[in-house]
Amino acid sequence: MPIDATEPYDPNNVFAKILRGEIPSKRVYEDEFAIAFHDINPHAPTHLLVIPTGPYVSWDDFSANASDAEIAGFVRAVGAVAREAGAVEPGYRLLANVGLNSGQEVPHLHVHVFAGKPLGPMLA
Ligand code: IMP
Repeated sequence: MPIDATEPYDPNNVFAKILRGEIPSKRVYEDEFAIAFHDINPHAPTHLLVIPTGPYVSWDDFSANASDAEIAGFVRAVGAVAREAGAVEPGYRLLANVGLNSGQEVPHLHVHVFAGKPLGPMLA
């Protein structure tokens, strides 16, 4: 069920629980600003999710309300995750769904990292 990206942050969402280690995940990266783990329902040979360690519902919430340090740290973490996955060459795709029309399902900002095959054109 898609979420409304303007709703308040729910500390019991599934990614908050993964962040706190309350439910398992296949974690591949961790620093002060972000963690990354494998998507449970992968859509590419490599399908990772990168989430900020802070409580942000969506890219909209994060870009408006996170500190400059959090934003810089998160952006660098996304790049590091892709590099560590060996995805830079021949390439990868980033995707962040925001709110109802995008189909965002989990109300904690996540950036999808897709790699490992030719990804084809973006669909609108
Ligand atoms: P969204 O549609 O952009 O919100 O993407 C949510 C993603 O989270 C989907 O690709 C799901 O497969 C993934 N997901 C949901 N629950 C879990 C989980 O417990 N572990 C890992 N990935 C999950």
